[in-house]
Amino acid sequence: MARPLKAEIDLDALRHNFDIAAGLAPDSRSMAVIKADAYGHGALACARALTPKAPAFGVASIEEARALREAGIETPLLLLEGIFEARELEIVDSLDLWQVIHSDWQIEALFAYTPRRALTVWLKLDSGMHRLGFSPEAFPSRWRQLSRATDRVANLHLISHFASADHGDTQQFDAQQETVVRLGRALDAPLCVANSPATLVKPQSHGAWNRPGVMLYGVNPVDPSVAASPLESLRPVMTLRSKLIAIQAVDGGEPVGYGGRFCTGRATRIGVVAAGYGDGYDRHAPDGTPVLVDGRRCRLAGRVSMDMLTVDLSDHPDARVGSDVTLWGHGLPVDEVAKHCDTIAYTLLTGLLPRVPRHYWQGSTGETLAEREH
Ligand SMILES: *Cc1c(COP(=O)(O)O)cnc(C)c1O
Repeated sequence: MARPLKAEIDLDALRHNFDIAAGLAPDSRSMAVIKADAYGHGALACARALTPKAPAFGVASIEEARALREAGIETPLLLLEGIFEARELEIVDSLDLWQVIHSDWQIEALFAYTPRRALTVWLKLDSGMHRLGFSPEAFPSRWRQLSRATDRVANLHLISHFASADHGDTQQFDAQQETVVRLGRALDAPLCVANSPATLVKPQSHGAWNRPGVMLYGVNPVDPSVAASPLESLRPVMTLRSKLIAIQAVDGGEPVGYGGRFCTGRATRIGVVAAGYGDGYDRHAPDGTPVLVDGRRCRLAGRVSMDMLTVDLSDHPDARVGSDVTLWGHGLPVDEVAKHCDTIAYTLLTGLLPRVPRHYWQGSTGETLAEREH
């Protein structure tokens, strides 16, 4: 038997979630964010599955964009942080990429370069997150400078990012939204500001474009205190599956695993699962983190090892070697596992390591498409 750990990627669920994002914003175009290898799901497979549904994709770097172009993806690709070096403009031009401009050196580089045709630019406004972009005071002069340069720049957009669209407390969101709307009106700029939480629960932020990311993968990015009915209809795209490879009958009062963090209270069956931090399962997962064995909830017991983890089978007397295990996905939302690990679903998904094979399939038909071993 091959090592049983695999990530099943349901491409129907991805398309379904995209339709929800697009349906919530019927007057906006929805750019699907597939940076970081589509949050660990495989950028190329996800891009193919969303073609021609998605009118554009968001990526983090030239390298991510190039891999997609070389595999034949012709959809517009936006570099969400723009170029990192002036010489990348040549590649932006030849691969026909869209770019964010967030700093004056990027504007200088653009004016020092003669493109084959005018380039699509998304000018970044720092509306209050204080990460990337021009301040509201500096933004209008940059906007006017770029709009006048019609030989270099086409399709200028205003892009900005929310720091806290996912919270019940809306003060920071409201201030950012007000700044975006004020500048957008003054400059008559098409807007692109909504990430997943804003797409879901802040319709006032929907612009000419939105940029949903994590929701496409079926993750709820919104604080549970914020009501949002569509969240229930998002479907998990990735299910991380493995099997029990051994069962130990351990006496009461015995330590299990590294450091003896978990100690059996009474005689306990301990199941050993082929999955560990060397696959991207969080080593910080505490005892009690849920793990499904044959669809039944069991509790992680003992420190996660590199290639294995251990579960308490007290609640599942029928479990045996070969029983199916779900680490997250169908039946066990990755958000829930993330909460136990004191992190967010984003880190678990993007942290899944290349040695875990991704199996692609269509949930509706059960059809297996292809297997990608990195
Ligand atoms: C990652 C990213 C997004 C998507 O955010 P989600 O919270 O995953 O929806 C949108 N815009 C920018 C600039 C990003 O970097």
